[in-house]
Amino acid sequence: MSAQYGHTKSLNIAIVGGGLVGALEALYLAKRGHHVSLYESREDIRNTPHVRGRSINLALSVRGRKALRGVGLEQRVVDEHAVPMKARMIHKPDGSTYIIPYDSRTNQCVYSVGRNFLNSVLLEDSEKYTSVEKHFGHKLLEANLSKGELKFLRADTKEIVQVKSDLIIGADGAFSSVRKEMMKQPLFNFSQHYIEHGYTELCIPADKNGGFQMPPNYLHIWPRGNFMMIALPNQDCSWTVTLFMPFINFKQIDTESKLLEFFEKYFPDSIPLIGEKKLIEDFFAGNAQSLITIKCRPYHTLDKALIIGDAAHAVVPFYGQGMNAGFEDCTVLDELFEKHNDDPVEILKEFSEKRWKDAFAISDLAMYNYIEMRDLVNRPSYWLRKSFDDFLFWLVPDFWVPLYNSVTFSTMPYSKCIENRQWQNKMLAVFIVLVTVITFLLYMYTRM
Ligand SMILES: Cc1cc2nc3c(=O)[nH]c(=O)nc-3n(C[C@H](O)[C@H](O)[C@H](O)COP(=O)(O)OP(=O)(O)OC[C@H]3O[C@@H](n4cnc5c(N)ncnc54)[C@H](O)[C@@H]3O)c2cc1C
Repeated sequence: MSAQYGHTKSLNIAIVGGGLVGALEALYLAKRGHHVSLYESREDIRNTPHVRGRSINLALSVRGRKALRGVGLEQRVVDEHAVPMKARMIHKPDGSTYIIPYDSRTNQCVYSVGRNFLNSVLLEDSEKYTSVEKHFGHKLLEANLSKGELKFLRADTKEIVQVKSDLIIGADGAFSSVRKEMMKQPLFNFSQHYIEHGYTELCIPADKNGGFQMPPNYLHIWPRGNFMMIALPNQDCSWTVTLFMPFINFKQIDTESKLLEFFEKYFPDSIPLIGEKKLIEDFFAGNAQSLITIKCRPYHTLDKALIIGDAAHAVVPFYGQGMNAGFEDCTVLDELFEKHNDDPVEILKEFSEKRWKDAFAISDLAMYNYIEMRDLVNRPSYWLRKSFDDFLFWLVPDFWVPLYNSVTFSTMPYSKCIENRQWQNKMLAVFIVLVTVITFLLYMYTRM
């Protein structure tokens, strides 16, 4: 056991899922001196190309950065690979653009990072710990969580592999098999919700000189009311473009001419950037992907199993917080390991008690942000509120933190971010009533 922390017992921990959150959690646990076996159903992502349907790049913000800092990887990820995005650039239907800064007071930005790169860095970093074993091509089939037993199917030999561990951590994503086992326990609450909108990914390639075709340090948005398109920059100067739209609209675009007509009407400036041929190829390359929200609790079974990341709280991607929240799980868990001296009984119990409110909160916020991104940003009321928020944030930054800033640029618990906004709404309502009454009284006074 690591003398650094002075623990008494090294645990044998099995992590199911070697995606972003599972790979990061492995590092945290190895750093604390535990023995970690990581089981991932797919092949090693370091040897495989991008899989369609999983976003190519992700927005990394303060919570994710903090978690990477905890294992010494923040600078490597941010400096070597990430493309900073300091504002939203809004594209109007006539092709003109305007900018909405994220944080005009301190100029903080979010970072566009490649999913494969990030996952690869996390897996690569675990090579420095002899206590981390990685088993790719191992798909979890069954589990007896209260006994710590897992059964995997090995892809290459088709063998069944049985494993027993002190603690199981399920980081196996939105369709988690560990969670399915957990659902068999009494008093486990679960809900899932597919939204009626799906998404498809397109690409704006680099220009012929290998440069960006659009200003790079922005998250580009084409808000169109009931649907929208966004683009995040990649390090090779291409853009990952994602079109979010109701499934019914995707279905209606069933010919090349309908697709071009649709793009000419709503996203004309993007056609020369993507290229007609590539637009047609990419759009019809597969079906639109679905988006799911998972809410459940508790996140643990006895002192034996825990779910984290999307397995515990998959959210729609509109706040760019799914991975950040999953990474924050790792930070929260690490603090609990420290607080409870690596005692799983207390750690798992407190994680479940503490985390669900924040997970539910970011889920609701993510749904709200879809409406803001695709529609509200076009409305004068949004601008009025944003200007008011920005002004007060500039004037009294410790007192008035706007919602977006608290979610993206602070580590304020997500549930507090909502409470904060509700409190601000009340203050604003009182302010409006006061101004109205004073104006009315002044008006009456001047008429007397
Ligand atoms: C279009 C889109 C855009 C997004 N953009 C952002 C963004 O900008 N910022 C952000 O923070 N988040 C974003 N997200 C959310 C982010 O992708 C997820 O929150 C994040 O990937 C969750 O990581 P995870 O490791 O918990 O789950 P996953 O990434 O799903 O990883 C789970 C892993 O478990 C493995 N697995 C599954 N079942 C088994 C099994 N039975 N046995 C063994 N292994 C198994 C899978 O192969 C996978 O590798 C976006 C999501 C989408 C869909």
